[in-house]
Amino acid sequence: MSIKPETACVHAAKSTANKSHATGAVAVPIFQTATFAHPGFGQSTGYDYSRTQNPTVEHCEELIAALEGGAGASAFATGMAAIATLMELFQPHEKHEIIATDDLYGGSIRLFNNISAKNGITIKYVDTSDLSTVESAITPDTKAIFIETPTNPMMKITDIAKISRIIGGRDILLIVDNTFLTPYLFNPIAHGADVVIHSGTKYLSGHNDTLAGFVVSKTHELAEKIHVLKKTTGAVLSPFDAFLVARGIKTLAIRMERSQSNARKIAEWLKSRAEITAVYYPEQGAMISFTTDTVSTAQKILNKVELILYAESLGGVETLITYPATQTHSEVPEAERLARGIDDKLLRLSVGIESVEDIINDLERAML
Ligand code: PLP
Repeated sequence: MSIKPETACVHAAKSTANKSHATGAVAVPIFQTATFAHPGFGQSTGYDYSRTQNPTVEHCEELIAALEGGAGASAFATGMAAIATLMELFQPHEKHEIIATDDLYGGSIRLFNNISAKNGITIKYVDTSDLSTVESAITPDTKAIFIETPTNPMMKITDIAKISRIIGGRDILLIVDNTFLTPYLFNPIAHGADVVIHSGTKYLSGHNDTLAGFVVSKTHELAEKIHVLKKTTGAVLSPFDAFLVARGIKTLAIRMERSQSNARKIAEWLKSRAEITAVYYPEQGAMISFTTDTVSTAQKILNKVELILYAESLGGVETLITYPATQTHSEVPEAERLARGIDDKLLRLSVGIESVEDIINDLERAML
Protein backbone atom coordinates (compact mmCIF):
# COMPACT_ATOMS: atom_id res chain seq x y z
CA MET A 1 0.00 0.00 0.00
CA SER A 2 1.45 3.39 -0.90
CA ILE A 3 1.31 5.85 1.99
CA LYS A 4 1.76 9.62 2.31
CA PRO A 5 4.71 11.15 4.25
CA GLU A 6 2.53 12.00 7.28
CA THR A 7 1.48 8.33 7.52
CA ALA A 8 5.03 7.14 6.91
CA CYS A 9 6.22 9.11 9.95
CA VAL A 10 3.82 7.06 12.09
CA HIS A 11 3.99 3.67 10.37
CA ALA A 12 7.01 3.37 8.04
CA ALA A 13 9.19 0.93 10.01
CA LYS A 14 8.14 -2.67 9.67
CA SER A 15 10.87 -4.18 11.79
CA THR A 16 10.74 -7.30 13.90
CA ALA A 17 11.04 -5.14 16.99
CA ASN A 18 7.75 -3.44 16.23
CA LYS A 19 5.65 -5.99 14.39
CA SER A 20 6.11 -9.42 15.79
CA HIS A 21 6.68 -8.61 19.42
CA ALA A 22 4.55 -11.07 21.34
CA THR A 23 2.64 -8.44 23.29
CA GLY A 24 1.50 -6.45 20.26
CA ALA A 25 3.03 -3.30 21.76
CA VAL A 26 2.19 -0.29 19.61
CA ALA A 27 5.32 1.60 20.66
CA VAL A 28 8.63 -0.03 19.79
CA PRO A 29 9.95 -1.96 22.83
CA ILE A 30 13.26 -0.78 24.30
CA PHE A 31 15.62 -3.73 24.10
CA GLN A 32 17.94 -2.53 26.85
CA THR A 33 20.48 -5.30 26.45
CA ALA A 34 24.14 -5.35 25.54
CA THR A 35 24.18 -8.90 24.24
CA PHE A 36 21.89 -11.69 22.98
CA ALA A 37 21.97 -15.38 23.94
CA HIS A 38 22.20 -17.93 21.14
CA PRO A 39 19.61 -20.74 21.03
CA GLY A 40 22.37 -23.31 20.34
CA PHE A 41 25.69 -23.90 18.62
CA GLY A 42 25.82 -22.18 15.24
CA GLN A 43 22.43 -20.57 15.82
CA SER A 44 21.50 -16.92 16.26
CA THR A 45 18.30 -14.97 16.83
CA GLY A 46 19.67 -12.52 14.25
CA TYR A 47 21.13 -10.38 17.04
CA ASP A 48 24.48 -10.99 18.70
CA TYR A 49 25.75 -7.85 20.39
CA SER A 50 24.15 -4.39 20.57
CA ARG A 51 27.08 -2.52 19.02
CA THR A 52 26.48 -4.63 15.91
CA GLN A 53 22.70 -4.45 16.01
CA ASN A 54 19.87 -4.01 18.47
CA PRO A 55 16.14 -4.41 17.59
CA THR A 56 15.10 -0.95 18.89
CA VAL A 57 17.95 0.76 17.04
CA GLU A 58 17.22 -1.30 13.93
CA HIS A 59 13.59 -0.14 14.06
CA CYS A 60 14.74 3.47 14.15
CA GLU A 61 17.17 2.90 11.26
CA GLU A 62 14.44 1.29 9.14
CA LEU A 63 12.19 4.24 9.84
CA ILE A 64 14.74 6.85 8.70
CA ALA A 65 15.75 4.78 5.65
CA ALA A 66 12.09 4.49 4.62
CA LEU A 67 11.42 8.21 5.11
CA GLU A 68 14.50 9.19 3.10
CA GLY A 69 13.92 6.57 0.38
CA GLY A 70 17.31 4.96 1.09
CA ALA A 71 18.31 1.29 0.94
CA GLY A 72 19.54 1.39 4.54
CA ALA A 73 20.52 3.62 7.44
CA SER A 74 22.98 3.44 10.33
CA ALA A 75 22.23 5.12 13.64
CA PHE A 76 24.92 6.87 15.67
CA ALA A 77 25.22 8.45 19.10
CA THR A 78 25.30 11.98 17.59
CA GLY A 79 25.25 13.72 14.23
CA MET A 80 28.99 14.30 14.51
CA ALA A 81 29.61 10.59 15.16
CA ALA A 82 27.65 9.89 11.95
CA ILE A 83 29.73 12.34 9.90
CA ALA A 84 33.04 11.24 11.47
CA THR A 85 32.27 7.59 10.70
CA LEU A 86 31.24 8.43 7.13
CA MET A 87 34.62 10.14 6.66
CA GLU A 88 36.29 6.75 7.27
CA LEU A 89 35.25 5.90 3.67
CA PHE A 90 38.00 8.22 2.47
CA GLN A 91 41.54 6.93 2.49
CA PRO A 92 44.66 8.97 3.24
CA HIS A 93 46.91 6.76 1.14
CA GLU A 94 45.05 7.72 -2.01
CA LYS A 95 44.65 11.36 -3.03
CA HIS A 96 41.21 12.07 -1.67
CA GLU A 97 39.62 15.45 -2.07
CA ILE A 98 36.21 16.52 -0.82
CA ILE A 99 34.34 19.60 -1.96
CA ALA A 100 32.21 21.03 0.87
CA THR A 101 29.72 23.86 1.24
CA ASP A 102 31.58 26.88 2.64
CA ASP A 103 28.73 27.79 5.03
CA LEU A 104 28.63 24.57 7.04
CA TYR A 105 27.74 23.76 10.64
CA GLY A 106 30.82 24.72 12.72
CA GLY A 107 31.21 21.18 14.12
CA SER A 108 31.54 19.75 10.61
CA ILE A 109 34.18 22.38 9.82
CA ARG A 110 36.06 21.49 13.03
CA LEU A 111 36.00 17.79 12.05
CA PHE A 112 37.12 18.45 8.48
CA ASN A 113 39.86 20.94 9.38
CA ASN A 114 41.29 19.12 12.40
CA ILE A 115 40.73 15.41 11.79
CA SER A 116 40.01 14.78 8.11
CA ALA A 117 42.82 17.13 7.08
CA LYS A 118 45.22 15.34 9.49
CA ASN A 119 44.15 12.07 7.89
CA GLY A 120 45.35 13.37 4.53
CA ILE A 121 41.99 14.34 3.05
CA THR A 122 41.88 17.68 1.29
CA ILE A 123 38.71 19.68 1.93
CA LYS A 124 37.89 22.44 -0.55
CA TYR A 125 35.21 24.85 0.66
CA VAL A 126 33.13 26.45 -2.06
CA ASP A 127 29.79 28.20 -2.36
CA THR A 128 27.82 25.14 -3.51
CA SER A 129 24.78 27.32 -4.30
CA ASP A 130 26.88 28.58 -7.24
CA LEU A 131 26.87 25.65 -9.69
CA SER A 132 29.70 26.89 -11.91
CA THR A 133 31.97 27.20 -8.84
CA VAL A 134 31.25 23.57 -7.95
CA GLU A 135 31.88 22.46 -11.52
CA SER A 136 35.25 24.17 -11.69
CA ALA A 137 36.28 22.84 -8.25
CA ILE A 138 35.97 19.18 -9.34
CA THR A 139 39.26 17.44 -10.15
CA PRO A 140 40.13 13.78 -10.88
CA ASP A 141 40.87 13.43 -7.11
CA THR A 142 37.40 14.58 -6.01
CA LYS A 143 35.78 11.71 -4.15
CA ALA A 144 32.77 13.45 -2.61
CA ILE A 145 30.72 16.63 -2.52
CA PHE A 146 29.38 17.40 0.96
CA ILE A 147 26.41 19.76 0.98
CA GLU A 148 24.36 21.39 3.66
CA THR A 149 21.15 22.94 2.33
CA PRO A 150 19.92 25.37 3.49
CA THR A 151 23.34 26.34 4.82
CA ASN A 152 24.01 27.03 8.46
CA PRO A 153 23.57 29.84 9.40
CA MET A 154 23.19 31.91 6.18
CA MET A 155 20.39 29.74 4.70
CA LYS A 156 21.77 29.50 1.17
CA ILE A 157 20.10 26.86 -1.02
CA THR A 158 21.99 24.38 -3.20
CA ASP A 159 20.14 22.66 -6.03
CA ILE A 160 20.95 18.99 -5.35
CA ALA A 161 19.51 17.70 -8.64
CA LYS A 162 21.74 20.10 -10.59
CA ILE A 163 24.84 19.11 -8.59
CA SER A 164 23.99 15.48 -9.29
CA ARG A 165 23.84 16.28 -13.02
CA ILE A 166 27.21 18.05 -12.82
CA ILE A 167 28.70 14.90 -11.22
CA GLY A 168 27.25 12.86 -14.10
CA GLY A 169 28.68 9.33 -14.20
CA ARG A 170 31.81 10.22 -12.22
CA ASP A 171 32.74 8.23 -9.12
CA ILE A 172 31.93 11.08 -6.71
CA LEU A 173 29.66 10.56 -3.70
CA LEU A 174 27.01 13.24 -3.28
CA ILE A 175 26.46 13.66 0.46
CA VAL A 176 23.70 15.91 1.81
CA ASP A 177 23.23 16.96 5.42
CA ASN A 178 19.41 17.13 5.53
CA THR A 179 19.15 18.08 9.22
CA PHE A 180 17.43 21.44 8.58
CA LEU A 181 14.71 20.29 6.17
CA THR A 182 14.14 16.70 7.37
CA PRO A 183 12.75 13.93 5.15
CA TYR A 184 9.30 15.43 5.61
CA LEU A 185 10.20 18.53 3.56
CA PHE A 186 12.99 17.25 1.31
CA ASN A 187 14.38 13.91 0.11
CA PRO A 188 17.93 14.39 -1.23
CA ILE A 189 18.13 10.81 -2.57
CA ALA A 190 15.16 11.48 -4.86
CA HIS A 191 17.19 14.41 -6.23
CA GLY A 192 20.33 12.35 -6.90
CA ALA A 193 22.17 12.23 -3.55
CA ASP A 194 24.03 9.03 -2.59
CA VAL A 195 24.18 9.66 1.16
CA VAL A 196 21.99 11.64 3.55
CA ILE A 197 23.21 12.77 6.96
CA HIS A 198 21.07 13.74 9.91
CA SER A 199 21.69 15.15 13.30
CA GLY A 200 18.79 13.21 14.85
CA THR A 201 19.24 15.48 17.84
CA LYS A 202 17.22 18.12 15.96
CA TYR A 203 13.85 17.77 14.20
CA LEU A 204 13.77 13.96 14.06
CA SER A 205 13.72 13.52 17.83
CA GLY A 206 12.21 17.00 18.07
CA HIS A 207 12.07 17.62 21.83
CA ASN A 208 15.60 18.75 22.74
CA ASP A 209 15.93 15.68 24.93
CA THR A 210 18.28 13.34 23.10
CA LEU A 211 21.38 13.19 20.89
CA ALA A 212 21.41 11.05 17.74
CA GLY A 213 22.84 10.86 14.23
CA PHE A 214 22.11 8.95 11.01
CA VAL A 215 23.77 8.06 7.73
CA VAL A 216 21.26 6.96 5.10
CA SER A 217 22.60 5.29 1.95
CA LYS A 218 21.02 5.08 -1.46
CA THR A 219 22.39 1.60 -2.21
CA HIS A 220 22.55 -1.62 -0.18
CA GLU A 221 26.28 -1.88 -0.92
CA LEU A 222 27.04 1.51 0.62
CA ALA A 223 24.63 0.90 3.52
CA GLU A 224 26.51 -2.32 4.32
CA LYS A 225 29.90 -0.54 4.22
CA ILE A 226 28.62 2.14 6.63
CA HIS A 227 27.13 -0.54 8.90
CA VAL A 228 30.55 -2.25 9.12
CA LEU A 229 32.22 1.12 9.86
CA LYS A 230 29.59 1.80 12.54
CA LYS A 231 30.17 -1.44 14.41
CA THR A 232 33.93 -1.01 14.00
CA THR A 233 34.18 2.56 15.27
CA GLY A 234 31.44 1.96 17.83
CA ALA A 235 29.74 5.34 18.38
CA VAL A 236 26.31 3.71 18.18
CA LEU A 237 22.89 4.96 19.26
CA SER A 238 21.59 3.53 22.54
CA PRO A 239 18.29 1.59 22.57
CA PHE A 240 16.62 4.20 24.78
CA ASP A 241 17.68 7.08 22.53
CA ALA A 242 16.54 5.09 19.47
CA PHE A 243 13.13 4.76 21.15
CA LEU A 244 13.01 8.54 21.75
CA VAL A 245 13.92 9.31 18.13
CA ALA A 246 11.32 6.84 16.79
CA ARG A 247 8.71 8.36 19.07
CA GLY A 248 9.67 11.88 17.97
CA ILE A 249 9.34 10.96 14.30
CA LYS A 250 5.70 9.98 14.79
CA THR A 251 4.89 13.71 15.12
CA LEU A 252 7.51 15.00 12.65
CA ALA A 253 4.93 15.98 10.01
CA ILE A 254 2.74 18.06 12.30
CA ARG A 255 5.73 19.62 14.07
CA MET A 256 7.30 20.64 10.75
CA GLU A 257 4.03 22.06 9.43
CA ARG A 258 3.50 24.12 12.56
CA SER A 259 7.11 25.31 12.94
CA GLN A 260 7.31 26.22 9.25
CA SER A 261 4.06 28.15 9.34
CA ASN A 262 5.27 30.03 12.46
CA ALA A 263 8.64 30.70 10.79
CA ARG A 264 7.05 32.21 7.68
CA LYS A 265 5.07 34.67 9.82
CA ILE A 266 8.08 35.52 12.01
CA ALA A 267 10.32 36.11 8.96
CA GLU A 268 7.75 38.56 7.58
CA TRP A 269 7.46 40.30 10.94
CA LEU A 270 11.26 40.58 11.28
CA LYS A 271 11.45 42.19 7.82
CA SER A 272 9.05 44.89 9.00
CA ARG A 273 11.22 45.89 12.01
CA ALA A 274 13.54 48.89 11.88
CA GLU A 275 16.03 47.14 14.24
CA ILE A 276 16.51 44.27 11.76
CA THR A 277 18.70 44.99 8.73
CA ALA A 278 18.59 41.59 7.00
CA VAL A 279 16.49 38.42 7.27
CA TYR A 280 17.72 35.10 5.91
CA TYR A 281 14.82 32.68 5.47
CA PRO A 282 14.78 30.22 2.57
CA GLU A 283 10.93 30.03 2.49
CA GLN A 284 11.13 26.42 3.64
CA GLY A 285 11.69 24.92 7.06
CA ALA A 286 11.74 26.70 10.39
CA MET A 287 15.25 28.18 10.66
CA ILE A 288 15.72 31.93 10.31
CA SER A 289 18.87 34.01 10.66
CA PHE A 290 18.74 37.77 10.93
CA THR A 291 21.07 40.71 11.40
CA THR A 292 20.35 43.48 13.88
CA ASP A 293 21.25 47.17 13.44
CA THR A 294 23.81 47.13 16.26
CA VAL A 295 25.68 44.60 18.39
CA SER A 296 23.88 45.96 21.44
CA THR A 297 20.46 45.15 19.88
CA ALA A 298 21.60 41.57 19.28
CA GLN A 299 22.83 41.24 22.85
CA LYS A 300 19.72 42.91 24.25
CA ILE A 301 17.52 40.35 22.48
CA LEU A 302 19.59 37.48 23.89
CA ASN A 303 19.39 38.95 27.40
CA LYS A 304 15.72 39.84 27.38
CA VAL A 305 13.88 36.94 25.70
CA GLU A 306 11.81 35.01 28.23
CA LEU A 307 9.77 32.43 26.34
CA ILE A 308 12.42 31.93 23.67
CA LEU A 309 15.44 30.11 25.08
CA TYR A 310 18.97 31.36 24.43
CA ALA A 311 20.52 28.00 23.68
CA GLU A 312 22.62 26.19 21.13
CA SER A 313 20.68 23.66 19.05
CA LEU A 314 17.63 23.59 16.83
CA GLY A 315 14.70 21.54 15.66
CA GLY A 316 12.83 21.07 18.93
CA VAL A 317 9.33 22.09 19.97
CA GLU A 318 10.80 25.03 21.92
CA THR A 319 11.88 28.16 20.03
CA LEU A 320 15.63 28.66 20.53
CA ILE A 321 17.79 31.66 19.74
CA THR A 322 21.48 31.22 19.02
CA TYR A 323 24.42 33.60 18.65
CA PRO A 324 26.45 31.84 15.92
CA ALA A 325 29.56 34.01 16.44
CA THR A 326 30.16 32.64 19.96
CA GLN A 327 28.17 29.40 19.85
CA THR A 328 27.72 27.18 16.76
CA HIS A 329 30.42 28.89 14.68
CA SER A 330 32.86 30.05 17.35
CA GLU A 331 35.64 27.89 15.97
CA VAL A 332 35.43 29.17 12.42
CA PRO A 333 38.45 31.47 11.97
CA GLU A 334 37.29 35.08 12.50
CA ALA A 335 38.18 36.38 9.03
CA GLU A 336 36.33 33.49 7.39
CA ARG A 337 33.38 33.93 9.73
CA LEU A 338 33.08 37.65 8.98
CA ALA A 339 33.48 37.07 5.24
CA ARG A 340 30.48 34.74 5.44
CA GLY A 341 28.37 37.37 7.25
CA ILE A 342 28.56 35.61 10.63
CA ASP A 343 29.29 38.77 12.58
CA ASP A 344 28.38 39.95 16.09
CA LYS A 345 24.99 41.22 14.87
CA LEU A 346 23.78 37.89 13.49
CA LEU A 347 21.22 35.84 15.41
CA ARG A 348 19.69 32.49 14.48
CA LEU A 349 16.20 31.38 15.44
CA SER A 350 14.98 27.80 15.49
CA VAL A 351 11.24 28.36 15.46
CA GLY A 352 9.22 25.97 17.61
CA ILE A 353 5.56 25.03 17.78
CA GLU A 354 4.35 27.60 20.34
CA SER A 355 1.74 30.24 19.47
CA VAL A 356 3.33 32.50 16.85
CA GLU A 357 1.88 35.56 18.57
CA ASP A 358 3.64 34.63 21.80
CA ILE A 359 6.96 34.22 19.99
CA ILE A 360 6.59 37.57 18.20
CA ASN A 361 5.53 39.29 21.42
CA ASP A 362 8.59 37.91 23.18
CA LEU A 363 10.90 39.18 20.40
CA GLU A 364 9.18 42.56 20.30
CA ARG A 365 9.47 43.03 24.05
CA ALA A 366 13.14 41.96 23.97
CA MET A 367 13.92 44.57 21.30
CA LEU A 368 12.53 47.50 23.35
N1 PLP B 1 24.65 18.88 11.06
C1 PLP B 1 24.01 20.03 11.33
C2 PLP B 1 23.40 20.80 10.20
C3 PLP B 1 23.93 20.51 12.64
O1 PLP B 1 23.30 21.67 12.89
C4 PLP B 1 24.52 19.75 13.68
C5 PLP B 1 24.47 20.21 15.09
O2 PLP B 1 24.05 21.31 15.40
C6 PLP B 1 25.20 18.57 13.36
C7 PLP B 1 25.23 18.16 12.05
C8 PLP B 1 25.85 17.74 14.44
O3 PLP B 1 24.89 17.04 15.14
P1 PLP B 1 25.05 16.60 16.69
O4 PLP B 1 25.01 17.85 17.50
O5 PLP B 1 23.90 15.69 16.89
O6 PLP B 1 26.37 15.90 16.80
